[in-house]
Amino acid sequence: DRMVTGELQEEDATVELSLRPTMLSQYIGQHKVKENLRIFIQAAKMREEPLDHVLLYGPPGLGKTTLAAIIANEMGVQFRSTSGPAIERAGDLAAILSSLEAGDVLFIDEIHRLPRTVEEVLYPAMEDFFLDIVIGSGPSARSVRIDLPPFTLVGATTRAGLLSAPLRDRFGVLSRLDFYDPKDLCMIIERTADIFNTSITKEAALEVAERSRGTPRIANRLLKRIRDISQVKGEQKISLSTTGQALEMLQVDKHGLDHIDHKLLKGMMNHFQGGPVGLDTIAATIGEEPQTIEDVYEPFLLQIGFIQRTPRGRIVTPVAYEHFGWKGRADNEP
Ligand code: ADP
Repeated sequence: DRMVTGELQEEDATVELSLRPTMLSQYIGQHKVKENLRIFIQAAKMREEPLDHVLLYGPPGLGKTTLAAIIANEMGVQFRSTSGPAIERAGDLAAILSSLEAGDVLFIDEIHRLPRTVEEVLYPAMEDFFLDIVIGSGPSARSVRIDLPPFTLVGATTRAGLLSAPLRDRFGVLSRLDFYDPKDLCMIIERTADIFNTSITKEAALEVAERSRGTPRIANRLLKRIRDISQVKGEQKISLSTTGQALEMLQVDKHGLDHIDHKLLKGMMNHFQGGPVGLDTIAATIGEEPQTIEDVYEPFLLQIGFIQRTPRGRIVTPVAYEHFGWKGRADNEP
């Protein structure tokens, strides 16, 4: 398993239950998003209406699910959670929607993966809180209208562009989550250390922050491993030197890149002189799905300026060459 992917892994699940902040005031970073939500939540509460539908988008592990649950908490309503791929038929969605209570938050993760037929049932539900369901088939088929309690849909997706326009237009609040800066990640790491009943020096926390790809899920995962090593060494407080050793063992480099990033970048450098090269070609070269590269690996590499998108394909930038100690595009692997 990759240490530095933002995607949820099996071993994260139980740990994360205890790490999730539950109120907006405990949710670190994402200042603009928080500020907006705070106002919308307050206004909805004053009007005694459910909050407008919210779309949260951004790479995995940045806190979309956490924020959705916080919205429900702050509104003082129930939180119901499902995902696009889990809802296969219109009837599945109808069952979920008709079991909601007034004001509830329904969270749909990976909402871009809802089947088209299901999505169409969602439109009137979001807009006017009713379902139009066809019962039976053939000549005896008839349409029934079911009224729903008003609710708030919180959708999450890795990229807003993956959503169909009619669905996207039905969200009143669109919030993009960005990669966290090291300062905010440090606070998350210190908070996690606290919950783990341990402590970490400032320098060590910063080291973890800088290698966590701006992603809280990765920071927490790395910290858990580092804590284990520090404990075995009998440390009172997680030190910078132990942190450095642990990260070396885990093969996470100074920028938080691992062997898969290296494979991706070096594949482009070795076989295509650093590009431009198309996404499908890169995917075929390293044996990964184009969609995974685009959603999971690439956003961070773009963020730190190691690759750039051009109309003719992706290119590896001079900063990346420098990171690997190559002189430049014409050079060979040292
Ligand atoms: P996503 O839904 O975007 O994949 P999650 O909401 O599951 O991400 O977040 C992953 C983990 O990261 C959470 O369990 C939580 O512990 C931590 N986390 C995310 N955002 C924050 C934050 N702003 N403050 C503190 N912890 C956070």
